[in-house]
Amino acid sequence: MESNSKFETCGICGVEKQKGIHLYTLYICCDCEQKIIHTEPSDAAYQHYLDKLKNMKQTTLYS
Ligand SMILES: [Zn+2]
Repeated sequence: MESNSKFETCGICGVEKQKGIHLYTLYICCDCEQKIIHTEPSDAAYQHYLDKLKNMKQTTLYS
């Protein structure tokens, strides 16, 4: 039984989700994780995800 009810906000979709992973300092919900996994690198959405990740890394570096 999990008693931790603190949800984290997904860095991709911006929605608070209970299940997800941490990639660098970015929290990615399981839904977005699946989307990224199933997105082809040639897909425009894939670039969108990469941009999000880059922005998050830069924000961390300069803050
Ligand atoms: Zn998400």
